[in-house]
Amino acid sequence: MKLHEYQSKELFSRFGIPVPSGKVVTTVEDIEKVSQDINGPPWVVKAQVHAGGRGKGGGVKVVNSLDEMKKASETILNQPLITKQTDSKGTKVHQLLMEEGVEIDRELYLAMTIDRAVAKPVMIFSQAGGMEIEEVAERTPELVLKESIDPDVGWSSYLGRSMVYKLDPLPSPETVRELITVMGRLYNLFMDLDCSLAEINPLVITKEGKALAIDAKINIDDNALYRQKEMKTLDDPREKDPLELEAEKSNLNYIRLDGNIGAMVNGAGLAMATMDMIKMAGAEPANFLDVGGGANEEMIAKGFEIILGDERVKAILINIFGGILRCDVFARGVLAAAEKNKIQIPMIVRLKGTNVEEGKKILEDSDLEFLVANDMVEAAELVAQQVSG
Ligand code: GDP
Ligand code: MN
Repeated sequence: MKLHEYQSKELFSRFGIPVPSGKVVTTVEDIEKVSQDINGPPWVVKAQVHAGGRGKGGGVKVVNSLDEMKKASETILNQPLITKQTDSKGTKVHQLLMEEGVEIDRELYLAMTIDRAVAKPVMIFSQAGGMEIEEVAERTPELVLKESIDPDVGWSSYLGRSMVYKLDPLPSPETVRELITVMGRLYNLFMDLDCSLAEINPLVITKEGKALAIDAKINIDDNALYRQKEMKTLDDPREKDPLELEAEKSNLNYIRLDGNIGAMVNGAGLAMATMDMIKMAGAEPANFLDVGGGANEEMIAKGFEIILGDERVKAILINIFGGILRCDVFARGVLAAAEKNKIQIPMIVRLKGTNVEEGKKILEDSDLEFLVANDMVEAAELVAQQVSG
């Protein structure tokens, strides 16, 4: 689950990480009132959306007067924001964060995440922070420093020192201390809130030599939301893909991808294998959809509707291994969805397992047209043929 920048900054403050003073507004009218409480000009207006890369997309503006701020805010609120992390239509901005402008001396990068390869939390630090961090990581990986942290031992400031002392030039001893303090606090926040990511880019050193988090990004591990009740209340459904939101309501495990093959599968492992097969056959999946072992007829129908609701989908591959989910239950779910939606795209089915004959018969006796595949390879090849050329 992703948090907005302003929410992340409130949490930073709670954990003792310094942030600029600021307020959230939703209309241009609120700006004048709010501006009286914030140091400036200069001020900074920042679009609050879950997509990154706002700076380059025009979603972050440094302004020098109230007039300029109103104009910038109006523009950001009234047109969709397009960044390299949104699709080409962009995303609507509902909220703006107004902040005091800061005089920046250096932009650093600091983040905590989980390193799956070593199965530990890892801190990432770079002296080349800012809007080019992806390019830095690609072209000059030696500028990106990492320290993995054993959660049983916890954070120790020597880990911070080993990274901060590589800064060139080395900041003043007071700034060095501040940076190491911020690191320890970011580790605490990351662990206490069950984050999958806590990122500060840029972590700046101001002209006065103060460490300050100019940007903030926190993602909470979805699997920990049951014990992170407060974090759960910070969810903003407006930022989510409408189809993903639908799927979430029905307890379906759905992720939108870039291709045009709709895939409906039970079990995460089988779903991933199916994605691979589709790609090996030369096509691209439009989604990952695991209806799960315990799916009932209703959930199947919902899943099918979600795939059909995606206008990019040009063919559907159904790959079901009937175990706990019986093939006949699955077939009835598909029929229920088909009754409600006119299906005009090819469907390829591969069914195996419990009650497979019954399931196949239900599909064959219906008015729906299916291509039946005997195994996964054939299923993937058939579906790829439907969209090629
Ligand atoms: P992102 O592009 O979505 O990551 O948005 P950021 O919050 O990182 O802002 C983008 C860039 O705007 C930063 O890298 C800074 O260079 C610049 N910026 C943000 N706040 C200030 C500020 O208070 N003063 C100045 N001079 N620049 C700022
Ligand atoms: Mn940033």
